[in-house]
Amino acid sequence: MTGRDLLLVEDEDNLRTMLEAALRHSGFDVRPAATGREALAEVAEAEPDLIVLDVMLPDLDGFAVCQRLRSDGVRTPVLFLTARDSTEDKVRGLTLGGDDYLVKPFSLEELVARIEAILRRTDGEARSDARISCADLVMDDDAHLVTRGDVEVGLSPTEYNLLRYLLINQGRVLSKTQILDHVWQYDFGGDGSVVETYIGYLRKKLDRTDPRLIHTVRGVGYVLRLPRS
Ligand code: CA
Repeated sequence: MTGRDLLLVEDEDNLRTMLEAALRHSGFDVRPAATGREALAEVAEAEPDLIVLDVMLPDLDGFAVCQRLRSDGVRTPVLFLTARDSTEDKVRGLTLGGDDYLVKPFSLEELVARIEAILRRTDGEARSDARISCADLVMDDDAHLVTRGDVEVGLSPTEYNLLRYLLINQGRVLSKTQILDHVWQYDFGGDGSVVETYIGYLRKKLDRTDPRLIHTVRGVGYVLRLPRS
């Protein structure tokens, strides 16, 4: 169980420093983050095995971070840390895709035991649905490969991320703002026209045969799904 990568998200400096040292001492590789946005950036970059996520953070709270990760298709297990101790919060956290919940103050032994239990339970699970598909369009996330029918489609990194976001949310209409926010990340100051441009690229590369999968919903956004008959 050692040598696993943890992302530790905690805004209180003393507690974060102390937990980081203790978790390293228990054999984990630990990356610290102090805010929700930092956490999202770290997950994208470091792909940790588990996230220890404080609920009360200065920007996005832990639940928002978790929700964001799940809607991006990130299945990394999450252990929430919180000072609050209400059933409602617990249920909310678990419903949003958290895997466990620890109320402050807790002992280090308990923290390590919970982390190990989650890792044992979820081992291999995160990799199990690396293939996402809609009709004959298949994305293999492990191989970073996209095929339509039997034909391999070469995509730029941005095209790939856009297609992945559409595929994960297939059947759901996504606004340009949502797409910008998830595919171009939070610091992108551009407008919706870049989304239109890239949707155009995807259509040209992989949606010129029936059934058409990428649909424009006028005034709302885009959706990837089979055409309605
Ligand atoms: Ca906090």
